[in-house]
Amino acid sequence: MNIVLMGLPGAGKGTQADKIVEKYAIPHISTGDMFRAAIKGGTELGLLAKSFIDKGALVPDEVTIGIVRERLSQPDCDQGFLLDGFPRTIEQADALDNILSDLGKRIEYVVNIQVEQEELIKRLTGRRICKVCGSAYHLLFNPSKEEGICDKDGGELYQRADDNPETVSNRLEVNIKQTQPLLDFYQAKNVLTNINGQQDISDVFADVDALLQGSRN
Ligand SMILES: [Zn+2]
Repeated sequence: MNIVLMGLPGAGKGTQADKIVEKYAIPHISTGDMFRAAIKGGTELGLLAKSFIDKGALVPDEVTIGIVRERLSQPDCDQGFLLDGFPRTIEQADALDNILSDLGKRIEYVVNIQVEQEELIKRLTGRRICKVCGSAYHLLFNPSKEEGICDKDGGELYQRADDNPETVSNRLEVNIKQTQPLLDFYQAKNVLTNINGQQDISDVFADVDALLQGSRN
């Protein structure tokens, strides 16, 4: 079962990734993990990637793609894999198709966890931190008993600059612009399924699971 998982920040992609890899016993392949493994393993491409990362530079596409090729060629990917965070561009998606075609494989499912922008903003701006003890709360998911006040020590809760609505909106806009061409790409290949991410986590997974079981509507 070869899956690409997509979803904007705050859509709950990580949670669904955990559930998918647990149920289907396939490796969860994220670009960060792949880079770390290649660097730790001291492979030629790993060392090359490290030389860019150490300089604070972006790892060039050809290096990233080479690392993806190495990773997807590992025996633990024989029964499938869940790609997360790759591909990010059409060029990478084309390269992925080539890699898989060389391996006699193809992407079977592109699962896009879909959540409306307004809801994402609520989720991504809800974090509050205690000025005294640093405890983290969330207005939706983990509210303090009294708004704006830490349960533990009565400290004042504040919002990090990274979590303010303007920063969050900008981040989302950038992500949407990057992601849309990929969604179109996979839609045209008839492998894209949008999953309603505005449900309970277990209901989202039930939909994902139904898709992966092959019961496409
Ligand atoms: Zn506190």
